[in-house]
Amino acid sequence: MTARIIDGKAIAAELRGRVAAEVARVQREHNLLPGLAVVLVGNDPASEVYVRSKHKQTQQAGMASFDHKLPPDVGQADLLALIAKLNRDPAVHGILVQLPLPKGLHTETIINAIDPAKDVDGLHPANAGRLAGGFAALSPCTPLGCIILSKSVHASLEGMNAIVIGRSNLVGRPLLQLLLNENATVTIAHSRSRDLPKLCAQADLVYAAVGKAEMVRGDWIKPGATVIDVGINRLPMADGKTRLVGDVAFAEASRVAGAITPVPGGVGQMTVACLLVNTLRAACVIAGLPKPGV
Ligand code: NAP
Repeated sequence: MTARIIDGKAIAAELRGRVAAEVARVQREHNLLPGLAVVLVGNDPASEVYVRSKHKQTQQAGMASFDHKLPPDVGQADLLALIAKLNRDPAVHGILVQLPLPKGLHTETIINAIDPAKDVDGLHPANAGRLAGGFAALSPCTPLGCIILSKSVHASLEGMNAIVIGRSNLVGRPLLQLLLNENATVTIAHSRSRDLPKLCAQADLVYAAVGKAEMVRGDWIKPGATVIDVGINRLPMADGKTRLVGDVAFAEASRVAGAITPVPGGVGQMTVACLLVNTLRAACVIAGLPKPGV
């Protein structure tokens, strides 16, 4: 068997197009311009790349984009004051603080200071709690993207056996909740789980969010399963360059799986697209409008 490759790039582009159409509609019909504020502290090169990409895609979707770049030694009080200002700003419907923050800043305190209604990263405990309770919530973007990719293969995930490998607040835990909302039967695995290959072999849906290059092997995969690889790892090459690989051994797994996401070109593409979705949804909720059609 050769797996169907799930084209995250194309699916994300299609989603961004639908967001742009809805942004144009709410602006036309309700004079609402959704706005996203991104706060970057310090000069981490990878974070700078992400923030530039978010800015560009937010503007391309027709939304307002506000970027705040702060020096690495900014004080916690100054960062909290900026968040309080953004919480009050009626032009801002989404606030994202780029993680990781430099040492000396307390991430939990910073995240907790964001108005949950504007928490488009879905990391505030109020949103995590609402999601866990099965209530409407802003959900983290990467797990949202994983669900959309899964549903590009399966119209419904109901009754399917899913395994989520990794239990971070950013990916694994919210993904577990989103899968439950889809009526999947979910196993969540982590570094203390026993016999991961056996657990994986029972899964119709495999989500790898571990951060270990090619850890999930082809012979762990149930024939025909759908494999969603969240991992982004840089492997050093003989020529001194690096190569991006996921948490799944792609070549092996694609011989067994029914469908699989590549790295790059899979989940990574969906994360920013889902951030745009969350910003549009947050803007509509704040403005008292019905849920947008995306
Ligand atoms: P994380 O916070 O480091 O969490 C990793 C999880 O993997 C933990 O729950 C850990 O278990 C588990 N784990 C570690 N070693 C394991 C093993 N040998 N067997 C089973 N489980 C193991 O990472 P994260 O933030 O969730 O990110 C995971 C990966 O996704 C990384 O490669 C990251 O770069 C990538 N990522 C991609 C995107 C995207 O947009 N595509 C977004 C976010 C993250 P314990 O809890 O027991 O320690």
